[in-house]
Amino acid sequence: MSDTTQKTNLIGLSRAELAAEMGAIGEKPFRAKQLWHWLYNRGETDFFKMTSISKVMQARLAEHYEVRRPLVERELTSVDTTRKWLLKFEDGNEAETVYIPDEDEQRGAVCISSQVGCTLTCKFCHTGTQLLVRNLNAAEIVGQFMLARDSYGEWPTPDDSTRLLSNIVMMGMGEPLYNYDNVATALKILMDGEGIGISKRRITLSTSGVVPMMARAGAELGVNLAISLHAVTDEVRSRIMPINKKYPLKELMAACRDYPGASNARRITFEYVMLKGVNDSLADARELLRLVKGLPAKFNLIPFNPWPGSEFECSGMKDIRAFSDLIQDQGYSAPIRKSRGSDILAACGQLRSESQRQKCSRLNERLAAGIGDDHHAVPAA
Ligand code: SAH
Ligand code: SF4
Repeated sequence: MSDTTQKTNLIGLSRAELAAEMGAIGEKPFRAKQLWHWLYNRGETDFFKMTSISKVMQARLAEHYEVRRPLVERELTSVDTTRKWLLKFEDGNEAETVYIPDEDEQRGAVCISSQVGCTLTCKFCHTGTQLLVRNLNAAEIVGQFMLARDSYGEWPTPDDSTRLLSNIVMMGMGEPLYNYDNVATALKILMDGEGIGISKRRITLSTSGVVPMMARAGAELGVNLAISLHAVTDEVRSRIMPINKKYPLKELMAACRDYPGASNARRITFEYVMLKGVNDSLADARELLRLVKGLPAKFNLIPFNPWPGSEFECSGMKDIRAFSDLIQDQGYSAPIRKSRGSDILAACGQLRSESQRQKCSRLNERLAAGIGDDHHAVPAA
């Protein structure tokens, strides 16, 4: 018989919340420490395999709780070894997680989503065209990293120097600073030294520029900051990134100057998507240098990844190189980001597109076969 009532998932609870749950089932709150180790250092999902926990407590845990991961609908590995997981959450919503190995394939970053879709409608971003948007909860955010570790067999938590999944970038679907509480809870769990133990120096949070939340994120989490800048004038930036109307460049750059913990050793990354004829001239590059004057900055130039219906083209390689050279001549790092995993549609701005496309083609197949899908009746031929 299958049990349809879901038990509380212990993943995603803060340490204090986990201790409170232990209190609620009559266990001493300090038991939470032991449990934390099993959940986040060992990656154990079966209470009965948590051998340092008494049989009585194991049974009590199993009666009330579960340890769940988001459901992996599909796992794809690119020819360049980038790996992508298409996830289905308990309400049927989907999101994607990507692992991007370094060139030497000894380390790499897990790119995590913070929302299903995004409310921000940046014109060049496929995620922004998705109508349905909701925040991911802390369990769904932490769970993305955990299932990536499951997939690479990296439990118990390996030594920092031997981890393949060494870094985290909050650069998947969604705007992390519009889901701050869940993202903060999740990152604190991921950083906890008695569990997964990813150092704040190995975590980068990317924001489109939610100015009022930046100082808090810096003070409370201390992670590296990346800004999706993408334009150097308010006129162009507001056109391609509507959030700029709310928080224009002057305020954004001031918030960058105030970001706690930024230093020459820990620079703020400015992401800049190269859009042909829109933001890619040498005058733009010079203005970019003027904007960041005095800031500990580095740049990441992203060749635009097109998607069906997008209104932009990627700048020519010659123009991107000239843009990069001009910035690097002034002593800044400005690599051109290599598109990784494009054969499995895991590249920047392509997330979610594949699952949607799959749905379309499945629907078309079914329509052709005269089956129809759950929502659409097939007209009689
Ligand atoms: N919402 C956050 C986190 C997403 S990070 C943010 O915008 O910062 C994803 C990065 O990919 C962002 O810098 C985003 O601007 C960039 N991006 C979006 N669409 C893209 C596309 N089609 N091609 C290249 N980069 C894109
Ligand atoms: Fe949202 Fe970032 Fe895409 Fe803009 S670029 S729509 S903020 S995910």
